[in-house]
Formats: sequence, structure tokens, C-alpha cells
Amino acid sequence: MATIKAIDGRSVHQIQSGQVIVDLQSVCKELVENSIDAGATSIEVRFKKNGLDAIEVQDNGAGIAPDDYETVALKHYTSKLATYDDLSSLQTFGFRGEAISSLCALSNFHITTARASDGPKGTKLDFAQSGRLAGTSVVAAKQGTTVVVEKLFHNLPVRRKELEKNIKREYNKVLQLLNAYACISVGVKFSVSNQVPKGKKTVAFSTNANPSTRDNISNVYGAKTIAVLIPLHLEFAMDPSNRPGATQSARNWSTQEDVGSRNVKILGHISRPVVGEGRQTPDRQMFFVNSRPCNLPQVAKAFNEVYKSFNVTQSPFVFADIKLDTNAYDVNVSPDKRTIMLHDQTALLENIKEALLALFEHHDQSVPQAQLL
Ligand code: ADP
Ligand code: MG
Repeated sequence: MATIKAIDGRSVHQIQSGQVIVDLQSVCKELVENSIDAGATSIEVRFKKNGLDAIEVQDNGAGIAPDDYETVALKHYTSKLATYDDLSSLQTFGFRGEAISSLCALSNFHITTARASDGPKGTKLDFAQSGRLAGTSVVAAKQGTTVVVEKLFHNLPVRRKELEKNIKREYNKVLQLLNAYACISVGVKFSVSNQVPKGKKTVAFSTNANPSTRDNISNVYGAKTIAVLIPLHLEFAMDPSNRPGATQSARNWSTQEDVGSRNVKILGHISRPVVGEGRQTPDRQMFFVNSRPCNLPQVAKAFNEVYKSFNVTQSPFVFADIKLDTNAYDVNVSPDKRTIMLHDQTALLENIKEALLALFEHHDQSVPQAQLL
């Protein structure tokens, strides 16, 4: 008798969902990204008991059309990407169609949504664990979408226990990530609050739909942080094909067709390299690729190394958005899309160090330049 058998569909769904939604941070990341993709200009994130009881994300975006109610929570159903080739010109955060379906499998989950044309009425959508639509009801709602995730990991006891044990740390990690989204999202009002049992609802931070990232940073981190920042503006041309030992991917990147794709810009804000002005807060370093918050440990290391050559005692505040052609990196590396593969990272790092050194050497150390981005 054969001993190798297929795992049942329900178990496969649960296993795969656990790889997309690994912690509190991935829940918030997916939901906030969906709100931004829906064109929201106001995003409210509400935690109950630091997220242990519930995470709610409410936006004023486009809403979901009734024709999509049946499929919104099915795995690999997305309104953002039709074929693999579209990935290279991706303009949205989402593309895998996995987040909503995974949340159905791992929490008590529902959505309330209304489009502009739906009047003051919205629809509450309930789902089965599989992501199948289980029921709809009419509710009062303003335009936009509210996603409610209750009792995350209630059906994965080991993970639920871990979450309970580490909830304070997890919650702080989430705030850091939300800070990054709030700072990069120009024109979007963010509000993040937490309600603990029998306690008051506390606002963790908020921004005001500002016209610049500098104003967003001011809302999130305060005027004192802003006072020591200088504009970060690095620009260089990458020419990986001429470099000895250039990799195949680097050569591909610099083929004739994408001659225009080799200009790299890094825009943002950074602490002046003045002793006494940085801080010991490496958590105040945010990196983005084309406005997508991501983990770039090597890039972070390059920034810190150069800053240290001016100020050995402190770490800089860094807000750096790397503007690259969409075919110069790959976001499809990990299910949470926070890991980005940069083609020819070595050349990029060398260029960053050189340009940053020049920026620090030339800036006037006595006057912070209050220049808007
Ligand atoms: P993806 O973002 O990769 O498409 P998701 O599972 O996160 O996959 O979402 C599935 C689909 O549900 C999206 O493509 C989008 O059409 C819809 N959706 C999810 N969240 C929202 C929202 N806040 N507002 C409007 N539509 C949404
Ligand atoms: Mg998504």
C-alpha cells in the first residue's frame, strides 16, 4: 500500500497561511498595504490588548465591489497582478492574493466595505476558514473598508502562546513598521491606537495627511528629531557592466533596452554628522525601495559605517527611499515581501558610501537645512 499521500486541502491552506502571516507585524503590514493600494487618504489602525484580542484597520479607500465579495478571500485571487510578467512593472504593494485568504485561516476575520456609489450603506462580509464567503449583511458604513482580525493564531496553539508571551515586543515592532508607512505616505492621515482592558484608549501616534515626508517625520518623531536632520539626496549612475567581475544579473540590468534604468536616486532625511546630535536608536532607521518599506541590512550597514566616520558615538536617524527602476530588483523573494533582492548590490553599496561621504563632507555643519522634500 502506498504510504505517500497528499495532505488534505484544509491543512495545506493552514500551513501556507502560516508562512504568509508569521506574526503581528505581517498582519498590519498586509492590511495597511491593502489600504494604500485602495487609494486611501486616511488609515486608522486600532489594536485591542496590543493586538492579542483584535487588530482593526479602517480606510477610506475605494472599497470592494459586490462582484468581488465571493473571491476577495480566496487564495491567489488579486486585483493587482494577472501574470508573472507583470511583476517587473509592479506599482502596488500587493500582488500575491494571499493575505486575506491567510487571515481567514488563522483568525476570526471579517470585512466591512462600501464604495462611493453604495451611499451610507455598506456590507459586512463573513468568511469560512477556507476563505469562502459565508454570509453578507447590510450595515451602516462610510466609503472604505474595515478589516477586523480577532484572536490571531487561535487555531495554532504554539504560535498563539508565543504571541502572548512576546506581545509587548511584537507590539513595539509593529509600531516601528507602522511609523515607516506613516512617514513615507505623503497625503495620507494615519492614526494608530491601542485599547487595553479596563484602560483608556491610547493613541500611539498619528499624522495629518501632510504634503511632505518631513512633516510626517515631525508628527511621528517630534520637532527635536527634525531639527537635526539634513535632506538626503544622493544620485549616481550605476554602470555595472563595465566593472570587473560584474555579475550576469548586473549585465542583464544594463542591456541596451534599459539604458535609462541605471540612474539611482536616494531621497530622504538623515542626521547631521555632528557629535552630540545622533542618538543610540537604530530603530529610527527606515529604508524603502520605491516607497516600499523593506529590510535592507547591507544598505543600513553602509549608512552607519559612513556616519560613524564622522560621529563615532552615535547612530543617525535615517529615512532613505531608494528610487530604482522596477526591473533592477525583485520583491518576490519572501512571502512577506520585506526582503528585496537588489541586482548588483555590491556596486550599489559602493556608490552609496561614496555619495554619502561627499554629502557629509560638503554640508554646512552649523545650520540644519530646513529644505522640504
Ligand atoms: P493582494 O493585495 O496581493 O491582491 P490580498 O489578499 O491582500 O491580496 O487582497 C486580495 C484583494 O482584496 C485585493 O487584490 C483587493 O482587490 C481586495 N482588497 C483587500 N483589502 C482591500 C481594501 N482595504 N480596500 C479595497 N480592496 C481591498
Ligand atoms: Mg494585499
